[in-house]
Amino acid sequence: MKIQIQDIGEFELSPNSPLKSILSEIKEKCQELPIAFKCNGEILDWHTPLNESLELTPLYSKDKEALLVLRHTAAHIIAQAVKELFPDAKLGIGPATEEGFFYDIYYPEPFKEEDLKKIEKQAKKIIKRRLEIQRRDVSKEEAYEIFSNLKEDFKLELLKEFEEDTVSIYSQGEFVDLCKGPHVLHTGLVKAIKVLSLAGAYWKGKEGNPMLWRIYGTAFFSKEDLQEYLNWLEEVKKRDHRRLGQTLELFSIEEDIGPGLVLWLPKGARVRRVIENFWIDEHYRRGYELVYTPHIALRKLWKISGHLDFYEENMFPPMELENRSYQIKPMNCPFHIYIYNQKRRSYRELPIRYCELGTVYRFERSGVLHGLLRVRGFTQDDAHIFCREDQLEEELTNVLDLVVYFLKVFGFKEYQIFVSTRPDKFVGSPEIWDKAESALKKALENKGLAYEIDPGEGVFYGPKIDLKIKDVIGRFWQCSTIQVDFNLPERFDIVYVGEDNKFYRPIMIHRALFGSMERFLGVLIENYAGAFPFWIAPVQLKVLPITDRVIDYAEEVARFFETRGFRVERDYRNEKLNYKIRVAQQEKVPYMLIIGDKEAENHLISVRTRTGEQINQISPEEFLTKITKENQPSFLLDESS
Ligand SMILES: [Zn+2]
Ligand SMILES: [Zn+2]
Repeated sequence: MKIQIQDIGEFELSPNSPLKSILSEIKEKCQELPIAFKCNGEILDWHTPLNESLELTPLYSKDKEALLVLRHTAAHIIAQAVKELFPDAKLGIGPATEEGFFYDIYYPEPFKEEDLKKIEKQAKKIIKRRLEIQRRDVSKEEAYEIFSNLKEDFKLELLKEFEEDTVSIYSQGEFVDLCKGPHVLHTGLVKAIKVLSLAGAYWKGKEGNPMLWRIYGTAFFSKEDLQEYLNWLEEVKKRDHRRLGQTLELFSIEEDIGPGLVLWLPKGARVRRVIENFWIDEHYRRGYELVYTPHIALRKLWKISGHLDFYEENMFPPMELENRSYQIKPMNCPFHIYIYNQKRRSYRELPIRYCELGTVYRFERSGVLHGLLRVRGFTQDDAHIFCREDQLEEELTNVLDLVVYFLKVFGFKEYQIFVSTRPDKFVGSPEIWDKAESALKKALENKGLAYEIDPGEGVFYGPKIDLKIKDVIGRFWQCSTIQVDFNLPERFDIVYVGEDNKFYRPIMIHRALFGSMERFLGVLIENYAGAFPFWIAPVQLKVLPITDRVIDYAEEVARFFETRGFRVERDYRNEKLNYKIRVAQQEKVPYMLIIGDKEAENHLISVRTRTGEQINQISPEEFLTKITKENQPSFLLDESS
């Protein structure tokens, strides 16, 4: 059997042996020993027995996929540490993740903070032992015996579900795990390991199953990489929108009101209002009509739309009134269809574009709710476009143009874009699907946007584009969705009259660009770390008189900017200036207008920014010119282009 390893050479391997059996030969030919290999898109380790000639790409510690291998080994090391310290613990599963790994472990009581420290310490000892990792492929019966002796009940349950006759077992020292791999060669390769946190997790994620303790951790090939990651985590913590939302008084979620239901506090409402105004103006400018629709509708509407067949588990239950059944809306689409249907539509009228900041309610399980990012009541920045088939590409291009414009205005310039194509079960003809998919791709190409295909991941009623935005610390957030729909026009039997006086079915495009106002605010808070750009800042200017003598003039200044539409706050308290400045900085107010005797005498102001820069003694009029420019949504665009 020939094994070809890229850039290293060709080796002879006897059948059913792992690469480890020719480790020394490979070692001789390479400068750096590969951590693992890649083969036909899959990661392969040194331990897995091979049965055919293969071409392999080596993975080194710099490769992201090598890190996954390392972290899976790190998960085993943590499990081993737990078993050494708490022999009665029972193991669930322990995969590598994007940022580290976890291991789900059953133990009668939660691990305390000091337990977690002990576990990390023990893990480091296991690393020092440089335990060689071994793999054995055994029959299911043998595996059953091994894990029965170890009293690993959860592993036994997993074994029952395996369809294969042989299973693989990885071990290091005394520690044995039922595992498909991949793993590194020995525990010593894990140069940095850290236990991060603990959370409860139901076995297999199912409520009603036993509760396990999920130990989260991370691991790296070097201590420096770990430190960099920990710094990044610190940064993430600082930006947590739930904490900032509270300290900046933007929003609140109250136990008595209900989980996932958001109160927008005055300052959060200001931010939202500015964004909404901008959103509405831009939609009018681009040929959309704004509409408003009710929050509930007869249950029968959701029958026609198909939501009761496909979506009921996500809907709040019905309400009975005068012998009729109503339901709160999870989506705005059916309403916009009835607005379309107010008249007979001609081909000349299309495309028709309705937009709405439509508040919807969906039943999300309490376990997945998270601040503003996953909620039960939210306002979509929704729109529905009704168009002819020949208009699809242009309409999609326009939507993309709008979404890119919006996102750039908020400083988001990097995206991950996915096109989801026809699934196995679908409505409409394959021809129309092909046309729509190619229209989506062409629209992306028209805008010069790179994308990936998610084959077969489209919803049954049409292909879609999902767009994730990258924030300033490199995290991606799902926001925009553009969905082509062949189904609802059919279900509601909407038509337009063609040039030949015959009836045709329009195509519908659903799209939300921010996703929802709640989610987008959450993302904005985290992206800006609460320091909103001037044009959306809830308080733009804060007037800080140094002494009571100048309050009259300070008030004059405040009114000067307030009457010109700026959001102004006053701090006339009898406090030290430094204290007032500190408060305004904590509130992340972009500009503090500082007024002392000199300023009052000469009708000037001194300005201090939240980052500590100072503009001394300028006239209010001159400052007005500066901030009027900054108050434009496009200000950041101009600055960066
Ligand atoms: Zn494993
Ligand atoms: Zn819709």
